[in-house]
Amino acid sequence: MEKNNIQESEKNLLHIYNRFPVVLDHGEGVYLYDTDGKQYLDFAAGIAVTGLGYHNEEFNEAIKGQVDRLIHTSNLYYNINCGEAAQALAKASGMDKIFFTNSGTEANEGAIKAARRYAYTKGSGRFEIISMENSFHGRSIGAVSVTGHDSYREPFEPLLPGVRFAQFNDLESVKAQVNDKTCAIMLEPLQGEGGINVAKPEFMEGIRSICDENDILMICDEVQCGMGRTGSMFAWQEYGVQPDILTMAKAIGNGIPVGAFALTDRVAGYSLKPGDHGSTYGGNPLACMAVKTVLDIFEKEKIVEHVNQIAPYLTKCLEELAQKLDCVTEHRGKGLIQGLVVTRPFAEVNKNAIEEGLLIISAEGNVIRLVPPLIIEKRHVDEMIEKLERALTK
Ligand SMILES: *Cc1c(COP(=O)(O)O)cnc(C)c1O
Repeated sequence: MEKNNIQESEKNLLHIYNRFPVVLDHGEGVYLYDTDGKQYLDFAAGIAVTGLGYHNEEFNEAIKGQVDRLIHTSNLYYNINCGEAAQALAKASGMDKIFFTNSGTEANEGAIKAARRYAYTKGSGRFEIISMENSFHGRSIGAVSVTGHDSYREPFEPLLPGVRFAQFNDLESVKAQVNDKTCAIMLEPLQGEGGINVAKPEFMEGIRSICDENDILMICDEVQCGMGRTGSMFAWQEYGVQPDILTMAKAIGNGIPVGAFALTDRVAGYSLKPGDHGSTYGGNPLACMAVKTVLDIFEKEKIVEHVNQIAPYLTKCLEELAQKLDCVTEHRGKGLIQGLVVTRPFAEVNKNAIEEGLLIISAEGNVIRLVPPLIIEKRHVDEMIEKLERALTK
C-alpha cells in the first residue's frame, strides 16, 4: 500500500499509536503477509494474543458458525456459551467463579472492584492496593492508578486514592507498604511490558503469606503471561501459589476481544453481588465461543506440552545469541515469553527486523520481547535467530 494512501486512511483516527510501517493483510500459521505479499515471521502475536497463530481452521469455523447463529444477547438472558466458557476457563485456571470482560484493562478494573467489595462486606475498612513498580495493568483510570510507571500515571492525576507501590521481587519493600488499610496486593507473576521480569518463588510465596496473615487479597494479573505462555496453563500454577483473584485476557480469545477476572469460591462469597458490576458486551456468545474453542484446542492439541517442548530450544538459541553479540547484554524470561536486553535503540533494530521479514516488539528497558504464537516449531526459532542476528548487526 502506498504511504500516502495509508496516511489518508488514518486521517480521522486520533493520533495515539506510533505504528510500524507495515500493513498486514492476512496470516497463515506463524506467518503474516502484508498487502504487497511480503512474508513476516511473527514473534509478536499481536502482543501475546494469537497463541494459536493464524487461520486455525477449527477456531475460524467455530467463530463463523457463531456469527451466523447469534453474536449478541446482553446479559439479561441465559447464554450457554458463556456458562460453558466459564466452566472451561475455571478448570484451566484453577479458579472458581468467572466474570467475562472485553479486555485486560476491564478485567483489572473488575478485580479492583471485587477486592474492594470483599473488604466492604467484611466491614474491614480496607481499601488500599499495593502494586509493583514496573507493572502494567491497563489504561483506564483504575488500571493506570495501579500501573507502576510515573509517565503513564502523571498526566491523569489525581488518580485512585490509596495505591502504594513496592519493588517487584523485593518482599521487604512490600511489607513496608502493608498496613491495616491494605485490601489487596497486585502483581504479574511475570512482568511483560515491564521488561520480562520473572517473579521469584520466594516473592510469590511471601506475598501469599502476607495476604493469609492479614486477610488481604492476592491479585495476579495474567493478562499477558497466562494461557500457556510461560509453560503452564497459568503462571501461578508453576509456583503453587494461588491468587484470590486472577485476571486474564489477550490469548484467551485468540484475537476475539475478551477478558475475564476470576475469584475463588471463598472470595466470591463476600464479593460482588447482582447490581454491583456488569458489562453489556462482556461474555457475549461470540466472545465465549472464542474462549471455549481456544480452550478446547489447547487440550486437544496439547499446546502447553508443546510450549514446554519448544521453549528450551528457544532459551538455548537466545543464550547463544547473547554470548555471541556484544550488543545483547542479557537474556530473560521463560516459556515462550522471553527477552533480550540490547544496547542498540529498539527502533533501529526493529526497522532492520521488518526489512528481514521478522515482527518483534519491545518492553521496558530496551528489551526485545519475543512472544510468538505458541505453535512455533524449531525451524521457526532457527529462522527467527538468523533474522534477528542480521537485524542486530546490520
Ligand atoms: C495488555 C495488558 C493489560 C491490558 O490489556 P488490554 O486488553 O490492552 O486492556 C493488562 N495487564 C497486562 C499484564 C497486560 O499485558
